[in-house]
Amino acid sequence: MLIGHKKQWDFLKNKLESGQLAHAYLFSGEEKIGKRTLAKEFVKLINCLSAEAGKSPGQESCGICRNCKDIENESYVDVLMVNLKNDKQEIDISQIREALLFLSYKSYYGSFKAVIVNGAEKMNFEAQSCLLKTLEEPKGKTILILISPHPETLLSTIISRCQRIKFYLVDPKEIEYNLVKMGESLPAGRQEKIAHDLASFCSCKPGQAIELFLNPDKLKEEQTTLQELVKVINSNLALKFQYTKKINLDGNNTKRVLEILQRYLRHLLFLKTGADNLTPKDFFPEAADNFKNYSISKIKEVLKLLEIINAQISLTNANPKLALEILLMEM
Ligand SMILES: [Zn+2]
Repeated sequence: MLIGHKKQWDFLKNKLESGQLAHAYLFSGEEKIGKRTLAKEFVKLINCLSAEAGKSPGQESCGICRNCKDIENESYVDVLMVNLKNDKQEIDISQIREALLFLSYKSYYGSFKAVIVNGAEKMNFEAQSCLLKTLEEPKGKTILILISPHPETLLSTIISRCQRIKFYLVDPKEIEYNLVKMGESLPAGRQEKIAHDLASFCSCKPGQAIELFLNPDKLKEEQTTLQELVKVINSNLALKFQYTKKINLDGNNTKRVLEILQRYLRHLLFLKTGADNLTPKDFFPEAADNFKNYSISKIKEVLKLLEIINAQISLTNANPKLALEILLMEM
């Protein structure tokens, strides 16, 4: 299911219908806003068995035919998903070679062969160079979709050979509407309240909102982390160091903690600027006294630092523990 991004969707659908699809696309935009979902929905549309698929503007695939289901489960023979492997730091050349070999075979069903590279910025230099050769000489009915929140780290020669499609944050009302539809099994009142709160809590990112909507335990966990974090921010340096030592600081967990912190700071910013209606107050602990003394410019400054740190953890081998310590010292 697609939430938001109608322009991007209709653009691709028009290209498909007019036989003008490019060989390579680069989807860029923040994490968890729906780039990967749209890529999958689009290859479903290409391969859907329903005669009704994509007939009217904005319309998606049927979602229930064999092909749609196989693509959803990532087991469809003509579509290959390339992801960062669990135990790896980067997407290496062997994964890209495999993808290129896949594209070189004829489509099993006579349609397009599609490769979706999720987290394309994780490709190392050799992998990118290998990919570049294919971009220079694309063959037949193939489509390559690179997905990345940090496309600036890709080789400029790769970027220039892809058609770039940018994704933006989604209107919370649209997220709310879709969450309500999704949760039709919940009692109506409760469902609407949670959907409304989550849409703004998740900073206009549908992927994140869905994740927390479907996993109440995860939401609870986030709130516990947030409470702990707020306590730590208000404590002395020694306790801050203790905290960074205590939490299991692999890259992913730090990213999670930083994301939660980012949410809280945005919440404070909304409160400070009087935009109370844009933030779900029930989801956050009461702002502590020293936060009340924070100026708007101070909050913005820390948010900016957070963004830089986040990018460094995603893109380099920056030490997550050290990064979090630096940030906590700033506050
Ligand atoms: Zn279908």
